[in-house]
Amino acid sequence: MTVERVLPTPEARDLLDLVRDLIGKEVAPRVAAGESAGRFPREVFALLGGAGLLGLPYPEEHGGAAQPYEVYLQVVEELAAGWLAVGLGVSVHTLSCFPVAAYGTASQRAALLPEMLGGGSLGAYCLSEPHAGSDAAALSTRAVPGPEGYTVDGVKAWTTHGGVADFYTLMARTSPGGGRGVSCFHVPAGVEGLSFGAPERKMGLRSSPTAQVRLDGVRLAPEALLGAEGEGFRIALAALDGGRLGIAACAVGLAQAACDAAVAYAGERRQFGSRVADFQGIGFMLADMATQIAAARALYLDAARLRDAGRPYGTRAAMAKLFATDVCMKVATDAVQVFGGYGYVEDFPAERYLREAKVLQIVEGTNQIQRLVIGRALSRPGGGDPQGGLTTEGGSRTTG
Ligand SMILES: Cc1cc2nc3c(=O)[nH]c(=O)nc-3n(C[C@H](O)[C@H](O)[C@H](O)COP(=O)(O)OP(=O)(O)OC[C@H]3O[C@@H](n4cnc5c(N)ncnc54)[C@H](O)[C@@H]3O)c2cc1C
Repeated sequence: MTVERVLPTPEARDLLDLVRDLIGKEVAPRVAAGESAGRFPREVFALLGGAGLLGLPYPEEHGGAAQPYEVYLQVVEELAAGWLAVGLGVSVHTLSCFPVAAYGTASQRAALLPEMLGGGSLGAYCLSEPHAGSDAAALSTRAVPGPEGYTVDGVKAWTTHGGVADFYTLMARTSPGGGRGVSCFHVPAGVEGLSFGAPERKMGLRSSPTAQVRLDGVRLAPEALLGAEGEGFRIALAALDGGRLGIAACAVGLAQAACDAAVAYAGERRQFGSRVADFQGIGFMLADMATQIAAARALYLDAARLRDAGRPYGTRAAMAKLFATDVCMKVATDAVQVFGGYGYVEDFPAERYLREAKVLQIVEGTNQIQRLVIGRALSRPGGGDPQGGLTTEGGSRTTG
């Protein structure tokens, strides 16, 4: 089903048309073989970059497309419906560019952003560590300041695009003291002392490499520091507010793809002399799937419009991530049920959608952490985001 969208400008409509065309011609034909082989589709990212899709919500002066977040997210949704590894990859890249775009000095932005947003370069975001996941402020990778910059040692875990990215947005400790001792750095891929673990062998999302990033005496120039020393955790959380909306959009796209596949199958499959779609037990299931997806889409768009209006949106982003990814898991599970036995085998995409849906409840803050963020906001005086978002105020240690 082509999703009916309300877009703010004719330019945004043209953009969505271009994205749908690109998915039909370049993404959809590659997805089954790519996932089955677990091969990262770098050539697809090159195509997206060439089409200007790797810098959508950033200013034009540095190579971005100056699109509102509500438009950027709908592009991510369409891409994720075509191939989750691609939609999620665009979301992670966009997240990785945020610290330079929002906290970099004028000279850092001028030096780094054209390459990062220009389409030929891919980013990764390194916050999690083997022993610091939800409690990310407990991270132990160290960046020791010296006369010529910083020396970095440590291991980051679970890095999406680990080993294939061109730059790594790294959170490392410059002083003791939980989140307040963390700083944010820009690390180019070729730097000496940077190495990668073997890609994790995952349940799904196999064509998106996830790997440890190891830093062994990595020397960084003073200009690699983004924002002030000790500001890195706040930057990391601010980036995650936007990133969570990217994950919500991915979840809606994936759920839509699962629902579309189930609707098409139920319209063809016949039992007891009828299409299975005509059995109320199946028809009601499909109706609930479509309704939940529409609600999840409305919630992430609502959060995106708050962000576009310059309003605090962190709590709404947490709600959108929580709701959309739970909906995605339920829809993907029900899609397998609609397919019956054919949902359980690799000849149809339903089983892949189910395997892929699960990860969205875990990344960029598990859904327990989203509930924690929302619950804390509710118990604040006024019951909402402080200016800048709940998660960016240093009151929350937990992020994911
Ligand atoms: C495929 C994939 C890609 C990823 N990509 C990236 C990436 O690019 N960059 C990056 O930095 N990280 C990445 N991650 C890491 C991801 O963000 C973490 O896995 C996630 O934050 C959870 O951390 P953890 O796995 O250590 O689980 P833990 O924090 O150990 O949590 C274990 C369980 O305890 C629950 N829990 C923990 N604390 C609380 C609490 N206070 N209250 C209630 N429940 C709690 C959790 O919800 C979870 O169910 C990725 C992970 C995966 C699987």
